[in-house]
Amino acid sequence: MASMKCTKCGAPVEFDVGDKFVKCSYCSSQIFIDRSGAGFYYALPFAIGESEAVGIFRRWAGGSTRAKDLDKLAQISSLKKQYFPVYLFKRDVNGMEQIHVEPAASTTLPGLHSLKVPGGDLKIFDDKFDAGGAELIKPDIEMAPYLEQLPGTPKEQALVYFPIWRLDYVFEQRRYVVVISASSSEIFSGDFPARSSGAYMLVAGVGFLAFLGEGLLALASTALALGLMAITVVGVFVAANFVARRM
Ligand SMILES: [Zn+2]
Repeated sequence: MASMKCTKCGAPVEFDVGDKFVKCSYCSSQIFIDRSGAGFYYALPFAIGESEAVGIFRRWAGGSTRAKDLDKLAQISSLKKQYFPVYLFKRDVNGMEQIHVEPAASTTLPGLHSLKVPGGDLKIFDDKFDAGGAELIKPDIEMAPYLEQLPGTPKEQALVYFPIWRLDYVFEQRRYVVVISASSSEIFSGDFPARSSGAYMLVAGVGFLAFLGEGLLALASTALALGLMAITVVGVFVAANFVARRM
């Protein structure tokens, strides 16, 4: 057994060498044990609920680069309330404090490598914390390798449970996923059904060739070339408008 002082209340806390987490028997704080020091467990509360998360997704799906009518046609197959663990590192780099946030669980989900943790909202995560039915994702990445790579010297490190909505949806028989930060309302997506740009490229290409031809024609007959150019401009406009509405 080894012993340390609780980082919150100062009471002596005993732990075994292999322990990663120990609970202070005096104040119930969960203390993270690491060879560079101990840190706290925190959680951020969910600032947005289920229906707001769906609304954020629908607005995102209606964006101009998304496939046409994705906001109406995407079928939400599941919406999960989850706490994703991240490490919060405070470093002293040449006298300046730097904050780094790194995932504490392995994931292929988008956005979880670039989360921002707002300092003021952190709540101590202990056995009294109400997760509100959110699934807790277990940390499976060690803190130590991060500590070696980060710049400067360590000031403080903690594990933070970050609130997310994981939304899975289906569009034209394919599955996609987005992650919505329940702290900032930001939405993160990897692959998504995109609006086809092929039709736009075709319109632009035909328009370019027409202008090129008309430019050559202008050497022989300026008036005729200008007339054709006017027709081309209108044609390109109408075609681009059609693509925007129908494709
Ligand atoms: Zn304590």
